[in-house]
Amino acid sequence: MVYDETKECIIIDPGCFDKREESKLSQFISDNQLIVKRLINTHCHIDHVLGNAFIKRTFKVKLFIHKLEAPILKAVKSYAPNYGFAQYQDSEADGFINEEDTLQFGSQSLKILFVPGHSPGHIALYDVNTKSLIGGDVLFQNSIGRTDLPGGDMNTLIESIHQKFFSLPDEVTVYCGHGPTTKIGFEKRTNPFCAVAQD
Ligand SMILES: [Zn+2]
Ligand SMILES: [Zn+2]
Repeated sequence: MVYDETKECIIIDPGCFDKREESKLSQFISDNQLIVKRLINTHCHIDHVLGNAFIKRTFKVKLFIHKLEAPILKAVKSYAPNYGFAQYQDSEADGFINEEDTLQFGSQSLKILFVPGHSPGHIALYDVNTKSLIGGDVLFQNSIGRTDLPGGDMNTLIESIHQKFFSLPDEVTVYCGHGPTTKIGFEKRTNPFCAVAQD
């Protein structure tokens, strides 16, 4: 979730599923008097979309994804029971976002980066002012996203990281879809999958 002093917020990749997680999220939103403006999925693997239906219904917001993720989102229903989520409720995107779009809410503007490889329509959201990047499952601290799921491709992923992430300033903080945050400069130097040779 990203919010600012205007109280407007967007929710990204909601993993909440059971009643306890849902009420924790609702509580946080009401405690902070936030106004939910949009729901975004960086990509549509099950762990990033579980809360979509609940959030759309509860906060009456629209879901935006990259259009190449539409089939990935659609497929979740068929495999959710195998992951123990038989109660998963399907929901469709209400609109698509593209590379170079800017997402405005409150006093924020986040730039959309198209970074396929882990998933075919994966996007990341970059805040130029705070130098923060919501990176989804593209780059992790000294690791990268898996590429063995449908639509995944290792070369594409490495290319996305080099072209889109590593062209950002070194001091940019990456908020990863899983695990600790990291910095672009640190990953450029030390990531075993995609470090940039230093001379
Ligand atoms: Zn994923
Ligand atoms: Zn994930």
